Amino acid sequence: MKGQEAKALSKFRDPAVTRELVRKVNSMVKENFQGTHIKLMHVCGSHEHTITYFGLRPLLPESLELVAGPGCPVCVCSTADIREAIEIARKGATLCTFGDMLRDRTPYGSLDDVRGAGADVRMVYSPQDALKIARENPQKKVVFFGVGFETTSAPISSLVRDDPPENFTILTSLKRTSPAVEALLAGGEIAIDGVIAPGHVSTIVGGNDWKNLPQRFKVPTTVSGFEPVDVLLAILELLEQIRDGKHELGIEYQRLVTLEGNVLAQKMLAETTDIREAYWRAMGNVPGSGYYLKPKFEQYDARKEFGVHFEPEPKKDIPPGCKCHLIVTGRAYPSDCALFNKKACRPDAPSGPCMVSGEGTCYIWYRFGSTPELRRKLIGNPASEVS
Ligand code: SF4
Repeated sequence: MKGQEAKALSKFRDPAVTRELVRKVNSMVKENFQGTHIKLMHVCGSHEHTITYFGLRPLLPESLELVAGPGCPVCVCSTADIREAIEIARKGATLCTFGDMLRDRTPYGSLDDVRGAGADVRMVYSPQDALKIARENPQKKVVFFGVGFETTSAPISSLVRDDPPENFTILTSLKRTSPAVEALLAGGEIAIDGVIAPGHVSTIVGGNDWKNLPQRFKVPTTVSGFEPVDVLLAILELLEQIRDGKHELGIEYQRLVTLEGNVLAQKMLAETTDIREAYWRAMGNVPGSGYYLKPKFEQYDARKEFGVHFEPEPKKDIPPGCKCHLIVTGRAYPSDCALFNKKACRPDAPSGPCMVSGEGTCYIWYRFGSTPELRRKLIGNPASEVS
């Protein structure tokens, strides 16, 4: 991080400000929500990282729950999509994807497995890297397995506008996050009192993409940044709305997010993709939640090029004993999973999808779940200060 950037961000980690916000949240709950349980959902692995890494949960009242929603793209990528990538690699293509996707396991194996068996599977850091491999190797059929939410969907889909070579195609598993939260609320399986909407995604889609939550579902919603102060400010704003009986859209992350979002990126997505129903691992079909290449770009569609298509198999999405389907829908914590408690599922040997990626809740809890010394260093000794 450059000096100026670090300085600007440091105020969002300021221990004194953080302490004061923690005190305010505790007072707010004590004064206004005695005997009431409040559940706030965030929808981004980076928010879970901030909450866990900085130890915010233990500083807040027990009656205020912060649960994770479907905010990890690796966790919700379907078994069928991964199976298609495996099949394409087996057919002799050079399959490029982000590192985490290599370890995302299915009953049909993982991309790491087929790589071990001799397939040309490569980890890349960006879709442009895959395009470069295709340009430098015209004799190979190169496929980019693109998995992600709105922030990665725009650069991935835009590849088809860059006049890619004939040997390059894309296997898409690209998703929109707000329809997934709407589906959760519509399903009624979980009662959520407020939503902390993802800042990164909202830089692209804009705050307006979340307006259905307050308007249709009457759930207070605030787009938040990723520093401790951001998250605490968002929590305070949501609590104020709940206290006042309001359900509005707020943007805490105003330094980067506007209501309209990144119009250029939205235009790029609209030019290259259609929006249709998509299947989410652990959630099933969600209307309007998937980006798919437009028919006019079908020559870049890897499913068509390699003739692969597998139907989702919900029963095969989650391995026995794994609770990821409950964790990504805010109905369980990693500590509710016996495999987590016994350390039988670990980042170096993940059993379920939530332990694979740095955005997965189980991974984050495993790595940063108990950092009292860090918490004390950053925020002081909370036990004596929040009563
Ligand atoms: Fe699934 Fe592993 Fe998390 Fe348990 S610890 S819920 S098995 S990913």
